[in-house]
Amino acid sequence: MIRIYHFNIKLVKIKAHSNNENNKKVDKLAKLGMEKETLIIEDTLLLHNSTICWQDMPVKYNPILIIKGIKNAQFIDEFLGLNRNEIYKQPELLELIDWKISLKLNCIDQHNTLFENHFLQLFRIKICCNELPTCVNLKKWKLDIYDESWKCNFCSIEEHLWRCDKIQNVMQYIVKGFKLFLVNIIFEISKNDLDRHQVECKVEELDMWDLNSLYDFTFLLKNQLSHQLVDLLKLYIITNTKVLEKILKLIISKIILDFKILIWEYRNEL
Ligand SMILES: [Zn+2]
Repeated sequence: MIRIYHFNIKLVKIKAHSNNENNKKVDKLAKLGMEKETLIIEDTLLLHNSTICWQDMPVKYNPILIIKGIKNAQFIDEFLGLNRNEIYKQPELLELIDWKISLKLNCIDQHNTLFENHFLQLFRIKICCNELPTCVNLKKWKLDIYDESWKCNFCSIEEHLWRCDKIQNVMQYIVKGFKLFLVNIIFEISKNDLDRHQVECKVEELDMWDLNSLYDFTFLLKNQLSHQLVDLLKLYIITNTKVLEKILKLIISKIILDFKILIWEYRNEL
């Protein structure tokens, strides 16, 4: 904004709440509170050796973390239970996804405030929540404009995004580039001397390349990683979880960008 509109910005530091009567009152009260002994534990209470339980299960670890974990799990359960996430009602599919790491990657980096990143983040959230204005969604949202005759932008036959016959060459291009990207990233990060052919074979063997399999690589757009992929990376990049997470983020960004530029934007131009 500053750059586009050539704004002149002058930063002036103002001392917070200076000479504000109410603020002085609050400061005084806070000071008083700090001096007061607010939590009193009776000695007799310490004699009781009790355990906190949740649903008849004793909480053995930090109760605050347990409560946070339960809250998170309930939220995810609620989200996956929505009609739009019907696909996850298949236990076989749920088992293929490494939820622990996938959910960890779902956290949005709040320090990342670049406009371009924000734009991509928005796109990503829309994908995760099935909110992209696809043909299927538009028909639901705007019944008066989109009637039954609206079909795929490319072939006008069906309602699909990845499987369209007309974009199979683009798909192949994306998959080919993605496989190469995976091999290269493994080579770059792994400190061991690797046999390139062996790594290529391992990448090729992943089930996710087949769009007809239960879990395919398009799930990566929703931050959902398969055990198979995570295990493959762990096999070569054994350093630590932080590095692994960073690589997984890179992989996801790559596929989202490919999808955005080569399929989504191309589709919307038609
Ligand atoms: Zn089509």
